[in-house]
Formats: sequence, C-alpha cells, structure tokens
Amino acid sequence: MAKFEPRDRKVKILATLGPASTDPEMIARLHKAGADAFRINMSHGDHASHEKTFNAIRALELKTGHPIGILCDLQGPKLRVGKFEGGKAVIPHGRHFTLDRDPTPGDETRVQLPHPELFGLMEKGQRLLLDDGKLRLRVIRADENEILCSAEVGGVIRDNKGVNVPDAEIPIPALTDKDRRDLAFAVQHKADWIGLSFVQRPEDLAEARKLMGGYGALMAKIEKPLAVRHLSQLIEMSDGIMVARGDLGVELLPEEVPPLQKRIVEQARGAGKPVVVATQMLESMIESPAPTRAEVSDVANAVYDGADVVMLSAETAAGQWPEEAVTIMDRIAKQVENDPGYDVRIALSRGEPDPTTSDALAEACASIARTLRISAVSVFTSSGSSARRVARERPRVPLLVLTPSQVTARRTTLLWGAHPVRTKDIGSFEEMIAKGKRMALRHGFGEAGGKLVVLAGVPFGVPGATNLLHVVTLQGDELKRHGEADHLG
Ligand code: PGA
Ligand code: MN
Repeated sequence: MAKFEPRDRKVKILATLGPASTDPEMIARLHKAGADAFRINMSHGDHASHEKTFNAIRALELKTGHPIGILCDLQGPKLRVGKFEGGKAVIPHGRHFTLDRDPTPGDETRVQLPHPELFGLMEKGQRLLLDDGKLRLRVIRADENEILCSAEVGGVIRDNKGVNVPDAEIPIPALTDKDRRDLAFAVQHKADWIGLSFVQRPEDLAEARKLMGGYGALMAKIEKPLAVRHLSQLIEMSDGIMVARGDLGVELLPEEVPPLQKRIVEQARGAGKPVVVATQMLESMIESPAPTRAEVSDVANAVYDGADVVMLSAETAAGQWPEEAVTIMDRIAKQVENDPGYDVRIALSRGEPDPTTSDALAEACASIARTLRISAVSVFTSSGSSARRVARERPRVPLLVLTPSQVTARRTTLLWGAHPVRTKDIGSFEEMIAKGKRMALRHGFGEAGGKLVVLAGVPFGVPGATNLLHVVTLQGDELKRHGEADHLG
C-alpha cells in the first residue's frame, strides 16, 4: 500500500461504516478517497462484527502509517422499531399500522416496538415519526400491548429505524443498559471518540465520563431540544460536539436546524472543541452516483460555517456509492477552501482568544500565516491542546501535529486542518527545531527555502505549557542527515 498522502483539505471527513463498507478492502478505499476517521454506529450490528471493523481499521492504519480515528457512536435512549421480514417493509399511505411487543419480524401491517415504557404512555392523536421523520404515524388507539396507528405518510421502513415521539414526554435515562455494554466495549477496544446520543443535560455527560474511566474523548450529539437549551454547558463538558441534524430536525422543526447549526458550530469552535456536521449531507447518494445541487450546497455551507468535520451516514454505511460519496465530499470541501471568500467568512465567526500564552501564540500563528508565506505550523503537543487552540484560529496553513501519544494522534484526525504524526519525544530546543523542519519536509508540508512556524512548550511534555514560537527556514539537506528514526509505529 502506498504511503499516505497528506490531504489537500482542512475540514475532515467522518464516514460511517455499515453493511456497504465493513469489508477491509472497502474501508481502505474510503480512506484513500478521503475518509479521515470512521464512525461505528452501535445502533446496528453486534460486538463481534464491530470488533472485525476495529481490527480492519487498525490494520489499515498500520499499513498506511497514518493515524485513523474511530468514533464509537452509542445509540443512546433512541427509540427504534424492531426487525422486518427480509429487512424491510412498505407501509402503504393511509393504512393502519400496529406497533406491538411481539419480536416476530414485522411486515406492512405491524412491527415490534421494543420499548415497554411507551405502551402505557401514548395517547390518541399523538404522532410517531419513523426514520428521521420520513414516515408519519398517528395514534388511533393505544393500550398496554398495542399502539394502533394510521399511516398518514407511509413508505419504506427498514430494520431498527428510529422512532421520535415529539408530542409525548418520555422519562428516558442518559444511557441504557445496551449503551453501558457498548461503552465498555468501546473503551476495551480503545475507541478514540465515544459519541453520546440524545444528551439532554450536563449530568448525562458526567455519567458517561465516569463510565469511561478516563479513557477516550467524549462527543456530545446535539439532537434534543433540551440539549440546545444547555448548549454552553454541554460544550464545556465534552471534547467534541455533533450537530446531529437527523433527530434534531425531527425533535424540532426542520427549519430550526440551519440557524442552530451555525450557532452550534460557532460556539463549539469558540471553545476550541471539534464540531461535526452530520446527517443527510449527500443523502440521495445512497441510491444515486451523483448528489443533488442542494446537497452539494449543504456540504459546502457546513464547510463555510467553519465545521471541523463533515459526516456521511447511510451514504457510506448502507448506500450503493460509498466511495463516490466520500470522493464528492472531498471535492466539495476543496473547492470551498480554495475560494478566497472562505477565509473571509471563517474570520467573521472567530471568537476572542482566552487570555493565555497558548491562545496568544495560536493567534500569532494565524497572523504570521497571513503576513508571511509559510507552508505549515508544526506543533509539538502531548495532549493535543495546543493543536486545538491553533485550529480554533483557523489559520491559512495546515497544522502538522507532532505527538508521541497515539491517543492524541488518532483523536486529532477530527480536528480542522490537523495532520497528526507520531514521533518520539523531544529533549531539547535544538532537537525540536530540527525535528519540526525534518517532519515538515518528510510529510510534504514545505520545500527547501520555504518558511515554517514551529510551536511548542518548554519544558517539553507538560500539557498546556505552549510558550515558544519559532519561524524557521527549511533547508534541503535537512532530511539527508537523518534516517526514519523519529517515527513511532
Ligand atoms: P444517528 O445520529 O445517526 O445516530 O441518529 C445522527 C443524527 O441524529 O443526525
Ligand atoms: Mn440521532
């Protein structure tokens, strides 16, 4: 396998894996096409299949020599229908459809709803929205065992699709028993990110954090009205944020999502937390090799908004054109980033830096990149914090993130502009400068005669102690004097 070529793009692509893409060959193709990290959706599949996926990604990482992030996305207290005979059914418009407690595979007249708490609770006239609101059922009659509905909007429904009940208040816990088992699995397999669905309150994050036992980065998915109300605190308490537009647009009105997306992206970026824009980005590509103009615009606008990451869901997990979806997303992102208007727009939503040395230097990096022709910022970091503070400024040049930590390297695959490389720890200032230059040359972030910014903290290895910025000129003989000895596997 060819050595990994640095992406010519700042925004990251997160691709969900599923039946269309768990084959190691396909994972490799998606990665090559532009997927920087992969999402394993714990709502589908079992631990044995997820373990295979983990192994395939880690094997690919070893082959390419470039860190690949894994996000284990917990289902959360999401309501879902059970399974159908043959995996799907078509519910005709206007017909009756029953949700019941019977685990026998469903058909066009009925299916299991494996959530006992809903049965005593639903009332006549309330809505049940299936599959991100694509199908709409209205309750005719409900008792302890059955919810009889009229299919106001019918359509195709597949196994385990989501159910939202915007008209009823359901007492739901932050993590179900399944989530606890899945979280333990994620930690055991060293997932780099753990996604928490249907977060509502800061306590939900605290509970997940406790169960994670100090391992992994926590991504809060914003998809409930209550989460929007607690947004600042949720951003504060998490390591990353996802604008989970699928459920958000069902729990709220779809037209409320775009302004919220802009607000969430801006606020998360202001806090220096990576933010993912997710769901239906290239939805039509599940079946079609080409996206709609509106989808292309949507991806482009998420990039203009300043998102760190754009995500593909069913497009890569269950679609017919997974590789094409990643390729198109990659092309859209590059086109936006090459637009001079991108820098202007992204500067508009920049937040004020914190009064810290780290932020002052991060701001200086962005400023130097505007004034001087530099090729990159090489940042030495152990926890990834300095890299996040620089990314927060959205400088014009890429960030070469040099870290001895595998955890940081992998986690940084979801950070705007970052190209993580694992290197041995550095011992001195001279060594740092020499290595910063060497790594830039080796990884294609500059040419002999060009300039580079090196950012680090002295003493080395102390998190959050960034205090040193050096502008250096790259020399052609830099690489010759050294072998491959700096790299960690
Ligand atoms: P999901 O989350 O795909 O796990 O539902 C994303 C969303 O709701 O948009
Ligand atoms: Mn969701």
